[in-house]
Order: sequence, then structure tokens, then C-alpha cells
Amino acid sequence: MPKSTSQSLGELVTELQVQGVMAPAVRGNPGRQGGAGPSDHRAITLEGTTVMVPVYNSTAQQSPYQLTTTADGGVALHHQGELTTTLETPPEPHFYNLQTAESIPYKAIALLHGKDVLATTLQQTCIRFRDRSESCQFCAIEQSLTSGQTIVRKTPEQVAEVVAAAVRLDGVRQLVMTTGTPNSRDRGARLMAETAAAVKAVVDIPIQAQCEPPDDPVWFSRMKAAGVNSLGMHLEVVEPEVRRRILPGKSELTLEHYYRAFEQAVAVFGRGEVSTYLLAGLGDSADSLIDCSRRLIAIGVYPFIVPFVPIAGTPLERHPAPTTAFMLQIYEAVGALLHDSDLRSAAMSAGCAKCGACSALSLFE
Ligand code: SF4
Repeated sequence: MPKSTSQSLGELVTELQVQGVMAPAVRGNPGRQGGAGPSDHRAITLEGTTVMVPVYNSTAQQSPYQLTTTADGGVALHHQGELTTTLETPPEPHFYNLQTAESIPYKAIALLHGKDVLATTLQQTCIRFRDRSESCQFCAIEQSLTSGQTIVRKTPEQVAEVVAAAVRLDGVRQLVMTTGTPNSRDRGARLMAETAAAVKAVVDIPIQAQCEPPDDPVWFSRMKAAGVNSLGMHLEVVEPEVRRRILPGKSELTLEHYYRAFEQAVAVFGRGEVSTYLLAGLGDSADSLIDCSRRLIAIGVYPFIVPFVPIAGTPLERHPAPTTAFMLQIYEAVGALLHDSDLRSAAMSAGCAKCGACSALSLFE
């Protein structure tokens, strides 16, 4: 079981991730608004652990937590005006200053997540996004496109160029590739395979691919052969009514379909190299999330549970985040299941669970 120091750090991280933090212009990488992944967040480092915390959404604007600049230029965390601790804020990476020969800024192609993870959304559009009655209700994938922060499609060569620079200049240690779901039966697996091959041709870095389950499981082997080390297929929510409400389009893929795909993927990538994202706080009970995690862990899939954070501009922008107590209940139960089954985030090659910055779960393993 976790040590008490990890528990208290775990509680503080959980508290910050559900309540957000007011962060006026303190030093470091300011993060970003919109897009896939940890939108409206920035990275902070507490006791050597780098996590993403919401700073740009409505929750953060009312948070009792605030970052301030100290007299010596460092960064401090306050709770209702009382000093809680000092912390670090990872700097903007050097590769953000570069651009391609066609004048596309590298940071429109990939972003630094957490401390040393490079993340890219290969296709910034999704078959489900244009019709908000079909799209995942929490998602902001096309917002960063509309605001001009990124480009619609990143070619394998562009991604490889940026990865090489980020490894060379900023010590990036893993690549996470996600995508909006394209209108093809492979659900993005082809894009993942082509890009992994291009990246591995120039730099040897662990890669996680994230996509919906492809119609033909042969794509798991193709992605693996192309250089993908780890795979994420994201359930997001689990109870039937919650899936219909939160994922009106994606819930056409049944849970059983996902479980079959997880088994097929584990057979290819190995136990502990397949993961899923679960968003807690959108209606699923703690028991549902824990039961689902138990089944996933038995298959060899890491359930990466994160607190839902409302993102500005989405249909759920006013949906409350879960409470700290709700998250801790889940983290403690799932952390014990992970511990007992020896499924460790640190042992994964790449991916969100290995990065861990969007959740406190790894502090409870
Ligand atoms: S956990 Fe995943 S989405 Fe969150 S910062 Fe890490 S790589 Fe990005």
C-alpha cells in the first residue's frame, strides 16, 4: 500500500485537479486552452511529481487555491491566502521556438505534456464532433483548430521532425499520439501506424497510440510492427445510461466490443501495455468505476482514472467536477487492485498512465 507521504501528496494533487488553481502570470509553460487531452491545464511540479492542473476553466476561476510569484522569483501555492507549499513550474520547451520549412510552428504539431511527454493529435477533426448531439460531450478537440493553435492534419514526416527536435533539445522521453476519429474502418489505426514508422525511422522513443477499437484486429499487429509500443483505447464512462448521455455517438460501440478489443490488443502489445481512460464524475458510481477497473486489470489493461474537468466552450463546461472524497475512494480501491496484480504505470513503455500527470492514481498504486 502507498506510504503516508504519497497519500498526502495524492490528496493534494487530487484536490488541485478537482478544484483547479487560480494561476495569474507565474513563470513556466502556461499550458493551453481547447484541444484534446488536458485542455485548460498547465503543468506544476510538487515534491518532484509533475501533474496537470486546471487553470483556465470556470472551476479554476473560483478555486480557493492560487499560484503566486515569491520574492525570489519562484512559485508558491496558497489556499485561501495561506501558504501551502512552494513548487516548480516546468519551463516552456526550446522546441516551441522552431518551425518547419513551410513555417508551421512546431508547437502547432505537438505539445509538451507534463514534464517530458510529447503529445500530438494527428487529426484534429472527428467524425463525431461537428454534430454536438453525436459528439462526446466533454470534448474540445476542434477548439484549438478553430483558434488557430494547431493544424488539421499532421503528416508523419512533420511529427517525426518535431519528435527529433524535442528529444534533442528538451529531453522528451515518450510520445503520445491521439486522433479525432476519421471516417474509416480502421478508426485511426492506419494514421497511428504510418506516423510511428516515420518517427522510429529518425529517433528511438517509446510511443503510445490512442484510437477507437479498429474494426479489424489485424490493425493491432500492424501498429505494433510499425513501432507502437503501447495502446490506449478510451472508454471514458461505463454505465449504459451515462455512456448514452456523455458519448451519444461513440456509445454505439458497446462495452463488450471494447472488452473484446482489449483482449485482442493485450495479446499483441502485452499485459500492462494497453490502457484506457476513465473520466470520474460524469454520473458513473464509484462502484461502477471500480468494478470496471477490476475487469480491465484482470485482462491486463491499466485503467487510467482521471477526474472529469469541465472545459470552457463544451456542452459540459458548467458540469461540476467530482469531489476530492469521491476521487480518493476510487483511487484507493483501484490503487489496491493495481498493487495486488502488480500492474504498474512505471512499467509501461509509454502513454498517459505512464505519464500520470492528469491523475493522482499512480500515487496510490
Ligand atoms: S496523462 Fe496523457 S493527456 Fe495527461 S499530460 Fe500525460 S500524456 Fe498528456
